[in-house]
Amino acid sequence: MKKKPQPANTDEADLNRLGRLAEYNHKRRFDVTPEPAGTVRKTKKKVLEFVVQKHRASRLHYDFRLEHDGVMLSWAVPKGPSLDPSTKRLAMETEDHPIEYNQFEGVIPEGEYGAGTVMIWDYGTWEPEVEDVDRALEKGDLKFTLRGQKLTGSWVLVRTRPRQWLLIKHRDPSASSLDITAEEPCSAVSRRTLATIARSAGASAKQLAQAEEADRSSAAPAGTAD
Ligand code: MN
Repeated sequence: MKKKPQPANTDEADLNRLGRLAEYNHKRRFDVTPEPAGTVRKTKKKVLEFVVQKHRASRLHYDFRLEHDGVMLSWAVPKGPSLDPSTKRLAMETEDHPIEYNQFEGVIPEGEYGAGTVMIWDYGTWEPEVEDVDRALEKGDLKFTLRGQKLTGSWVLVRTRPRQWLLIKHRDPSASSLDITAEEPCSAVSRRTLATIARSAGASAKQLAQAEEADRSSAAPAGTAD
């Protein structure tokens, strides 16, 4: 019997095996962080999930994720989404995440990648407004519809440089001048603040203080935050 050739480097073999989630898995120690280990889940379901996770890591940002091809395509949006079509929000492309990540609300321990508090700020389903999502991503212009608890209607992600995109609300009945991140600062799932999540998930004193600070800054009325 022929022996299967053994890969010289186990790490490399793991990265190959884990395919699109290799970077996600490589960055995390699953015996330390409560985040889920990544597996690609291709399903035949027609409905695609989206999630926005408010994340107080080294700084506050909103992780915007769209399900595609068994993973969550991900962008970090420092200021969060805006319902105002004239306000373009920077969205930095980040590594694909597992679909199970959409359920994650808790604390990533100190010293780990992305350490800090994570809130499920919004969730729902999305639908591409284009025939071919891969082609749209390649072109750097993805139009889509969101059906979330907070975010709805038509949106677009436009790439301006490698890995750098803008998230923009299209003009439609769900466009608004309402400052959605300030008006709706809490979890769409548990209604908790970042500090409440931090406290119940065993955050360090520093992480708790950062979560409290992020709650104060993100709930400030428009125009008063710096
Ligand atoms: Mn993040």
